[in-house]
Amino acid sequence: MARYTDPVCRLCRREGAKLFLKGTRCYSKKCAFERRQAPPGQHGVRRRKVGDYGMQLREKQKIRRVYFVLERQFQGYFEKASSTPGVTGENLLRMLELRFDNVVYRMGFAASRPEARQLVGHAHFAVNGRVASIPSLQLKPGDKIEVRETHRTREPFKEAVEVIKSRQVPEWLSVDGAKLAGSVLTAPRRDQMPLDLNEQLVVEYYSR
Ligand code: SF4
Repeated sequence: MARYTDPVCRLCRREGAKLFLKGTRCYSKKCAFERRQAPPGQHGVRRRKVGDYGMQLREKQKIRRVYFVLERQFQGYFEKASSTPGVTGENLLRMLELRFDNVVYRMGFAASRPEARQLVGHAHFAVNGRVASIPSLQLKPGDKIEVRETHRTREPFKEAVEVIKSRQVPEWLSVDGAKLAGSVLTAPRRDQMPLDLNEQLVVEYYSR
């Protein structure tokens, strides 16, 4: 399966915002975006006028990159969101939030979404008692996620209990740090999803 393998910090500089793709480094002085905010490339510092299309494109790219999803898959999410009852933009964000790798990240088992994706891919987790290793798996209210018993003492989870304590877990999830387990309580409402993302621009982008 295709995946993004180039340096991720350039994505933050490209979008002009911190996308938090590198875990603890994102909160330190080593963050590349803190040091240099100009877009990557030799013409990065040039100021350009951005029209409606440019804004829609940039927001689409930003949301796609926040959730670390490739273009084709993102388009698939949009098509599904438009054919689901309700507000298309909200449906889109909700689907992205309910991805297995995103839920693992939100619960505090991983420091970033790319790391969460790797942990899921390495089959460290079980969903409703069964081993699950597909990062794009759509979770639903009532689903129970846990680190597999035989994997709890492994390296990635040695400090997870402390990390989970320091994380603010969204209201639509519950986590038991001591048991390295959690569950999806409800599907997230719009006000429980990132407010700095403008999903309406994505709808306009794909509706051109
Ligand atoms: Fe973005 Fe994190 Fe890299 Fe900073 S350290 S530029 S927030 S990925």
